[in-house]
Amino acid sequence: MRNPFRVVIVTGVPGVGKTTVLRRLEEIAREEGLNVKVVNFGSHMLNYAVREGIVESRDKIRTLPLRKQLDLQRLAAKSIVEEASKELGENDYLIIDTHALVKTVAGYWPGLPRHVIDELKPDMIAVIEADPEVIAARQARDKTRYRADIGGAEGVRRLMEYARAASFASATFYASTVAIVENPEGRPEEAARRLFEYMKNL
Ligand code: ATP
Ligand code: AMP
Ligand code: MG
Repeated sequence: MRNPFRVVIVTGVPGVGKTTVLRRLEEIAREEGLNVKVVNFGSHMLNYAVREGIVESRDKIRTLPLRKQLDLQRLAAKSIVEEASKELGENDYLIIDTHALVKTVAGYWPGLPRHVIDELKPDMIAVIEADPEVIAARQARDKTRYRADIGGAEGVRRLMEYARAASFASATFYASTVAIVENPEGRPEEAARRLFEYMKNL
């Protein structure tokens, strides 16, 4: 039911601050003497997609034909666990920056369906959250990414509701805990600390 190392899946709608919080979490873990490997699921998908020459940016992945996204999802899950298994021991943590639900051009789509969970075998699924209006403002400020397809504050609110449900559904396969973690405006450090406290108890 588990990988030798602890597995923490970190989810949340685009722009809520997953990647930002995890940068801080890496530092906290280092200070506290815990060995963590943080990987971005979308980066693994993007690597395969770029190799095939089908997309050039991470925000374009969700516009690919669904069968293609499924292919990339399967490859990413496999390669993440393969890589981690070579590096991590039983006191270490694999932290995966990803999505419980993706708003694709073919409809809402689970990021953590059974075939992915069978590879990752998560101890915990964290859901990073914030106020939808605040998230929309973060999206608008971040010019390095394209997130307009999420539909502003109303689109974020809806996606958050569905994504929470998707996280709980994914948690049932391997009896993972679900941790809802608020990422307060201007204080990503607090979210990282809270996440770290949950992690230590797995
Ligand atoms: P995606 O799923 O699209 O990769 P993400 O959840 O990883 O999104 P980030 O890229 O970490 O989101 O953050 C989005 C933007 O919000 C960035 O500009 C980041 O600096 C900012 N941000 C993140 N956390 C906070 C916070 N607590 N307060 C204010 N701004 C934040
Ligand atoms: P991110 O940088 O986290 O937004 O990831 C980039 C893109 O990768 C996302 O917008 C999705 O299209 C895709 N992606 C990430 N994780 C998953 C997943 N678990 N299942 C399907 N697609 C994913
Ligand atoms: Mg990110």
